[in-house]
Amino acid sequence: MEIRIFGLADDSIVDGPGVRYTVFVQGCPHHCPGCHNPASHDFAGGTLMDTDGIIRKIGENPLLDGVTLSGGERQLMLLGRALIQNAHTLIMDEPTASLDYGNSFRVMQRIESLSAGGYSVIFSTHEPNQAFRYATKVLALKDGRVLAFGPPADVLTPELLEALYGVRVAVTQVLAGGRSFSVCTPYGGEEL
Ligand code: SF4
Repeated sequence: MEIRIFGLADDSIVDGPGVRYTVFVQGCPHHCPGCHNPASHDFAGGTLMDTDGIIRKIGENPLLDGVTLSGGERQLMLLGRALIQNAHTLIMDEPTASLDYGNSFRVMQRIESLSAGGYSVIFSTHEPNQAFRYATKVLALKDGRVLAFGPPADVLTPELLEALYGVRVAVTQVLAGGRSFSVCTPYGGEEL
C-alpha cells in the first residue's frame, strides 16, 4: 500500500517522547497564516512511498521509542496511522468534512484504494453521492432509527433519500472515465 509523504525523520528527538521515527503526511487544506510547511499543502504533492518499506525501516532501528505521525489534515493522519500500524479496519467520521471538492475526491480515492487493498473501511457521510460512489453497503439512519441497509443501488432509492432529507430527489446514471455511476440530485426545494 502506498502513502503520500511530505518527509520522514529516522531519529527525531523533537516529535514526542524519546527517539521517534516521524512520518510527515502530505496534504493539508487549512492554509494557516505563517505555516512553516507550505510545500506540504498540495494533496497531489510529496512522494508516494510504499508503507511496507517504511514499516521495515522502523523495525530495523532498535533505538526507536516510538513512531509519530505528523501532518495538517486529521483524516490523512488517520489513514497514515492505519497504514503504518497495519490496522485492517478503519472507522472514519465524515472523512471529507473539512475539504474542498478536489481534495475530497483525492482523500476518497485513497480510501477506495485502501478498500481495494483489503482494508475494511466504515465511514459516515451526509453526502449520498459519496455513498453511491464509494460504499459497498449503506446503513441509512434517521433520528436514531435504521431506515435501510444493503447495497447502495438497493438502499439509495429516491423514496429513501426523500424520507431522509425531506426534499425531492432524482437518481440518474452518469458516464465518467468509462464507468457508470449513480448520482442523486435534489430538485424542487419544497418540503415534502
Ligand atoms: S495545519 Fe499545520 S500544515 Fe496545515 S497549514 Fe496549518 S500549520 Fe500548516
